[in-house]
Amino acid sequence: MILEPVLAFSHSVLEKRVQPGDIVVDATVGNGHDTLFLAKLVGPAGKVYGFDIQEIAIRRTKERLEKERAGQNVVLFHCGHEELLHRIPEKDHGKISGAIFNLGYLPKGDHTIITKPETTLKAVEGLLQITAPGGVISIVVYEGHPGGKAEKEALLDYVQKIDQTRARVLMYRFINQKNDPPFCLAIEKTAPAPDR
Ligand code: SAM
Repeated sequence: MILEPVLAFSHSVLEKRVQPGDIVVDATVGNGHDTLFLAKLVGPAGKVYGFDIQEIAIRRTKERLEKERAGQNVVLFHCGHEELLHRIPEKDHGKISGAIFNLGYLPKGDHTIITKPETTLKAVEGLLQITAPGGVISIVVYEGHPGGKAEKEALLDYVQKIDQTRARVLMYRFINQKNDPPFCLAIEKTAPAPDR
């Protein structure tokens, strides 16, 4: 297929920007698929900061990384991503080149524990503040579960109001699929114009 599925697109956005040695964030580690992807992308010289409120998600992510011998560059925080400005060391503020959110509930977990509008928005805004110029934030949004639509609406309202001189925001969405398929929001923080 020519058109990338949404999850693949969320990774492609990061692959275009993130380099070995970079500092990146997985705001919702869940089962660790995205954390592993990021850990490989930045390599041993880079760093991944990962967040999740569920102990089981942190454990599954650690296990996945250990199995793949890929966790040396990963720091996992068992807390909400809304705390990221306090948890990520100040020395790394302004250096984050990429971040990913995969919203909703933990697959093969408790479907009543979901990401929430207020905390998601706080985390996205915090990340936008500490992302490097030209850095990207990729957000996979699900609206099919209870609570999903409210989060989607709050997020769309927030991202559509981001000043266009601060960042560019893209929505990647298939518009003829049934059952509320996920979509991706990609935010690219503005980089200063190169000197002439
Ligand atoms: N990225 C994951 C992967 O690759 O497997 C999937 C993430 S799953 C769809 C969503 C995760 O968000 C769940 O594990 C859930 O516990 C977590 N979550 C919910 N609220 C959160 C919050 N405030 N901060 C961080 N994680 C949160």
